[in-house]
Amino acid sequence: MSAVVDAVVVGAGPNGLAAAVVLARAGLRVEVLERNATVGGGARTAELTLPGFHHDLGSAVHPMALASPFFRAFDLPAHGVELLQPEVAYAQPLDGGRAALALRDLDATAEGLGADGAAWRALLGPLVARWREVVALALGDLRTPPRSVGELSAAARLAVSVLEQGGPAWGARFRTEEAPALLTGVAAHAVAPPRALGPAGAGLMLAALAHAVGWPVPRGGSQSISDALAAEVRRLGGTVRTGVEVTDLRELPPARAVLLDVVPRGLLRLAGDRLPERYAAQLRRWRHRSAAAPVHFALDGPVPWAAPGLERAGTVHVGGTRAEVAAAEREVAAGRHAQRPYVLLSQPSLLDPARAPRGQQVLWTYAHVPLGSTVDVGDAVQAQLERFAPGFGDRVLARRTVTAVELERQDPNLVRGDISGGAVTPWQLLFRPVPRWDPYRVPLPVPTYLCSSATAPSSGVHGMAGVHAARRALRQVFGVRVGADGLSAPTR
Ligand SMILES: Cc1cc2nc3c(=O)[nH]c(=O)nc-3n(C[C@H](O)[C@H](O)[C@H](O)COP(=O)(O)OP(=O)(O)OC[C@H]3O[C@@H](n4cnc5c(N)ncnc54)[C@H](O)[C@@H]3O)c2cc1C
Repeated sequence: MSAVVDAVVVGAGPNGLAAAVVLARAGLRVEVLERNATVGGGARTAELTLPGFHHDLGSAVHPMALASPFFRAFDLPAHGVELLQPEVAYAQPLDGGRAALALRDLDATAEGLGADGAAWRALLGPLVARWREVVALALGDLRTPPRSVGELSAAARLAVSVLEQGGPAWGARFRTEEAPALLTGVAAHAVAPPRALGPAGAGLMLAALAHAVGWPVPRGGSQSISDALAAEVRRLGGTVRTGVEVTDLRELPPARAVLLDVVPRGLLRLAGDRLPERYAAQLRRWRHRSAAAPVHFALDGPVPWAAPGLERAGTVHVGGTRAEVAAAEREVAAGRHAQRPYVLLSQPSLLDPARAPRGQQVLWTYAHVPLGSTVDVGDAVQAQLERFAPGFGDRVLARRTVTAVELERQDPNLVRGDISGGAVTPWQLLFRPVPRWDPYRVPLPVPTYLCSSATAPSSGVHGMAGVHAARRALRQVFGVRVGADGLSAPTR
């Protein structure tokens, strides 16, 4: 297949590419093999609806491109990626022309939330103040204990808040409809009923990041992040080959280490019966739960939102009140399509006009649906938008729905449309994807590591699963130590 390399990476998603960058920066000869024609996995952009309309196929909004230890060290802007910040990070429309807005500024957000402003500030303020420590924990490997008093106190603070918002007391803090709806819209990113520990943890971290670093969109789309990572691998002498689907690990060129940006099902396929049976049985127990179905729109102008402020929002969570979003997510978790689904929406054209022809816009949305759904949710999503933006339908030039099963055809890691790499339950978070002290290491004779979002710290464009796996490979196979961000010198 190619000249001798030190390490092979299968899969050029954000985690595979981050792993490749870490290995190449450490001086290794790296080869990346990607089945798709373009790099990026869940971070790709393409013309999908009409010519000149550039849609993000997977991820669209990137707080972790600014907050993740790897990306902070990598420095995307230094690699030509412009991260554009909306004035309103995210928003939640409610019936009657109302909306709750999360602005970059915490105090301004609290002011806008009226009677619940102080409660919002008290919940998020301490996490915003310690956002680096919160991120270090949340994006850690869940094996490394807190490294400082700051991290320990951030862990305690996060735990208390997660227990509150993930448990029966979640309604106790707030008095209005706006603030709890705003927070629930973020927690529902976890693709699960929001009143649970996993969604509460993810929601609180993302909500804190809105005030700490913002929720930016990259100019040109998410592809620009993936292209910057691939360019760095090549600059360092590595190879990135697209259109190469690996069907068996025996096809790989000889290498001292192998990193796999695949989920358990992909590993079972690649390794066949060469995995120890006990380990293979653990992989087979890995569970996917709910899925997403993107609906991409080409519009002939901005969304005619009823509530003021939404026209300035990068992200909008469409689903109504806390109770409505929770009910929709419970339906999906029970295997049914919600009549009024929770819809995640991004308006990149507000900041990046070149995504669409002059005066026109791309609109990125997805609804949560049951795992393996083949249903076209385009009408249900459009009806939700019409509810909060009367006249929306008149702006639609074209619409393209991708069902949950079609998502998997775009990227085999999206098993039956699961965008999280596997359900984020407390068990599957702690033992991602197997109950082992080192869940990244695959028990095969050639040192092999899993580095996808099926390992900690789960989904999102942060690159940290790749970093955790690559650091292990560097230490165990090559005797090289690097810092927690994968790029700096080790601190201890
Ligand atoms: C619709 C959607 C919306 C999302 N929105 C956001 C968002 O706004 N913000 C955010 O931070 N995250 C978002 N995410 C999540 C984020 O995209 C993923 O968590 C992230 O891409 C996971 O990265 P990864 O490298 O682990 O896997 P992936 O991105 O899935 O990449 C895996 C790569 O490996 C390749 N591959 C797999 N098997 C093989 C093989 N056998 N041979 C060769 N290549 C192979 C695949 O083709 C793919 O390119 C979203 C995801 C989706 C699908």
